[in-house]
Amino acid sequence: SSVFAHVAQGPEDPILGVTVAYNKDPSPVKVNLGVGAYRTEEGKPLVLNVVRKAEQMLVNDPSRVKEYLPITGLADFNKLSAKLIFGADSPAIQENRVATVQCLSGTGSLRVGGEFLARHYHERTIYIPLPTWGNHPKVFTLAGLSVKTYRYYDPATRGLNFQGLIEDLGAAPSGAIVLLHACAHNPTGVDPTPEQWEQIRQLIRSKGLLPFFDSAYQGFASGSLDADAQSVRIFVADGGELLTAQSYAKNMGLYGERVGALSIVCRSADVAVRVESQLKLVIRPMYSNPPIHGASIVATILKDRETYNEWTIELKAMADRIISMRHQLFDALKARGTPGDWSHIIKQIGMFTFTGLNSQQVAFMTKDFHIYMTSDGRISMAGLSSKTVPHLADAIHAAVT
Ligand code: PLP
Repeated sequence: SSVFAHVAQGPEDPILGVTVAYNKDPSPVKVNLGVGAYRTEEGKPLVLNVVRKAEQMLVNDPSRVKEYLPITGLADFNKLSAKLIFGADSPAIQENRVATVQCLSGTGSLRVGGEFLARHYHERTIYIPLPTWGNHPKVFTLAGLSVKTYRYYDPATRGLNFQGLIEDLGAAPSGAIVLLHACAHNPTGVDPTPEQWEQIRQLIRSKGLLPFFDSAYQGFASGSLDADAQSVRIFVADGGELLTAQSYAKNMGLYGERVGALSIVCRSADVAVRVESQLKLVIRPMYSNPPIHGASIVATILKDRETYNEWTIELKAMADRIISMRHQLFDALKARGTPGDWSHIIKQIGMFTFTGLNSQQVAFMTKDFHIYMTSDGRISMAGLSSKTVPHLADAIHAAVT
């Protein structure tokens, strides 16, 4: 018999498992609103034109080889990524106080950042919002940090529990790490206002907490890359230290290319040099060095003004389509006279709506309407289209009446 005979069946991932179940359903009306991946009006995955163009440029360039990248990744990509999130005129960049390493998309950036902190930072506790992306607690626990939560979402208002957030961060031990979603909070679609961000910043700085931003949706929330980075930039502007994990999965549609970056903003250039040397020691035994193709696409797009502008237009079109889906779904529920206040559908931002539907209602919608979503009632607005909105509205209506 197998030496692994005792190995128990592991549970399906709560988010990716939704797609597994969806794929097994033969119904022609099935809709997958589980995973956060952009779909066109026709329900198809989208490769941006500007990405195709960059790939052509790379293919036609005979100087391109497939050598290993350095442990820290593609140098151009790292510089351009820091500029994208912190702003071209960021003093931290100008003063060479930022250590940036290319990582395996957002997840890999969070993991490398978490392992660095577990080894070199004096406080091992990281506070994550309640709720948050389901992978956060697992990533940080395995990185060697101790995970605690702070209140974030208020089910009664389907908005931010700002009072709870301030109380919980105010009660955190000095020096604790705080995970913040830079924009388009997943799964709730609820972000602090600029005024609230400023109060959060003051609290974090006055208590000496260390902010770790997860930026998985820059440009996806509002359609503007600068507006969506504002939360991060106010923390860089005050001169303090922070970490940022960036992903190009959503905003460039590079999901499977696994391209992202971890940046650590330090007080001084000499600290940044030493921090980078230690990031290399985290990365080398983990996967040696990152893949070349996705980072080359990103660098090609970001470094040329024309391709950069093309990207921002395509990005805005994706963000606008999602916003339009919010309005269509809201209108469809209103037209059906569905009981309840559904204004949160148009108030929340980013890829997801946190519907407020409970797990029984979700199970009912999956069984009777072949609509697939996570059991917490989160739906990916990017997976909807004008054609599928009426079916979803029918399902929600039936689930709540
Ligand atoms: N962080 C958040 C909040 C996310 O929603 C996601 C993706 O869904 C990620 C990080 C990481 O995604 P990836 O590793 O594909 O870049």
